[in-house]
Amino acid sequence: MAKQTILICDWCPEDTHAVVTLALTNGHVTRGAPTLDLCGKHSREMHKAFVARKRTRYSDEGRAKLSAIMKERQGTRWAPIWGEREKAAMTVMRELKTDVHIKSIMKALRLKHNVAGATMRHLKRKGLVKMGKYSTGCLARYELT
Ligand SMILES: [Zn+2]
Repeated sequence: MAKQTILICDWCPEDTHAVVTLALTNGHVTRGAPTLDLCGKHSREMHKAFVARKRTRYSDEGRAKLSAIMKERQGTRWAPIWGEREKAAMTVMRELKTDVHIKSIMKALRLKHNVAGATMRHLKRKGLVKMGKYSTGCLARYELT
């Protein structure tokens, strides 16, 4: 009698006959691709994994409500820190008055460059203005209005 190979489901704890062999390929290389021998039940389970997930869609109203909540949360979380930083930066600005480079603020408040950049953006909303035509990028100088 010829030797027969019976495929057993890879996922079943007990020995169940496999009905399919699935291979994970990228469409080009099939040799050495991982394969799974699965029974009917587990094959269906596997196919479920390929169904796209439903996305949660919010209405414009719902999105506005969510963003308001997020904004408030962010505000309450960072408000004290920004308040302190703003006060300190404004003190420096008032001392130097004009032609203030970001480096002077960084030095005075002991800020790293990323935080300093965010601080300058924050201060711009509070009335800090760039000076002159060539005041861009690393050359940017600021003054209070
Ligand atoms: Zn199974």
